[in-house]
Amino acid sequence: MKRMTDAAALLDRLAKGERLEREAYAALIEALSEEGADGLEERLFSLAREKRESVYGRGVYLRGLIEITSFCKNDCYYCGIRHSNRHAGRYRLSEADILDCCEAGWALGLHTFVLQGGEDPALRPDSVARLVEIIKARYPACAVTLSLGEWPREVYEAWFRAGADRYLLRHETANLAHYRRLHPPALSPQRRKACLRQLKEIGYQAGAGFLVGSPWQTPDLLAEDLCFLAGLCPHMVGIGPFIPHSETPFAHFPAGSVRQTLHLIALVRLILPQALIPATTALATLASDGYERGMLAGANVVMPNLTPQKEREQYQLYENKRTGDTAAGKLAQLERQMRAIGYHLDLSRGDSKLDTMIEGG
Ligand code: SAH
Repeated sequence: MKRMTDAAALLDRLAKGERLEREAYAALIEALSEEGADGLEERLFSLAREKRESVYGRGVYLRGLIEITSFCKNDCYYCGIRHSNRHAGRYRLSEADILDCCEAGWALGLHTFVLQGGEDPALRPDSVARLVEIIKARYPACAVTLSLGEWPREVYEAWFRAGADRYLLRHETANLAHYRRLHPPALSPQRRKACLRQLKEIGYQAGAGFLVGSPWQTPDLLAEDLCFLAGLCPHMVGIGPFIPHSETPFAHFPAGSVRQTLHLIALVRLILPQALIPATTALATLASDGYERGMLAGANVVMPNLTPQKEREQYQLYENKRTGDTAAGKLAQLERQMRAIGYHLDLSRGDSKLDTMIEGG
């Protein structure tokens, strides 16, 4: 009981905008995972909702996700489209295919397109720049988000000059040793973090984020993720449960927990009130009411999938990924789901309020 009251006091400090020590974050995460933490959890979620509503109101921003390639040269141990998975279906959308996806998304009212993919060696930086230019010329009011992994600074700069507004690059785990256990030696945690800092410097709205329940993760490691985010202050934070994929080295590890993912969403909302935080597809894959519960824990973004059905089935980062919904059907359903919990879809570009808060003092 003492622990619960201590944890509640920590929550109140967080809600006031204080930064906590790593040990305190770890204690909170641990307390939240215990039996009998329902009261503490409800308090956390309600503080996170209050914070979200004070910055962003009750609107839910939408991002149309286009998974442009499933080829990848990397070999992340958790990921279903890792290079070594010979059973993974591989595809690469053409420029025309991608533009068709944008057109379909635009017709539905979406104002942000997220181009995501594996680190496809055939992806030419100038082709991506050209594509971004075309999209921005066709839909000047839209935002383009890229999520194409690690590239040299010059490439990030060229894409930014071409008109890309945002970049998503989850740090996956902030702890260096833990990062090395989740990735092959060719991938460096320092390089990934350096990429994130560069993206912010260049002027992108930058998105970091991490997996919840990845192998060997502990409350203390999650606390390190929170400290890293507090220091980086990204515009966006993607938080999703790890889900095992049978054709990866992590096939036999258990999936991350929905509840713990919600706790982390809420904690990040308290630490970074201006962050754009999606209720992720991975969360909605593990819980049919994942989008609603994500919102009620402080998230404010959903990313409907615009990838053509045939290719979408091959972009399996994890198994049983929710791929069935058509974007149009999904939007109508989402609208109902959000209304039912007192929220509504907001079809604007939905930029981060972080920069306005900084500039506005
Ligand atoms: N190549 C890009 C995009 C990666 S896919 C990049 O490196 O950023 C987007 C996210 O999916 C990853 O950042 C990772 O956090 C998540 N992901 C990959 N495999 C997963 C799994 N098995 N379970 C849950 N999320 C996973």
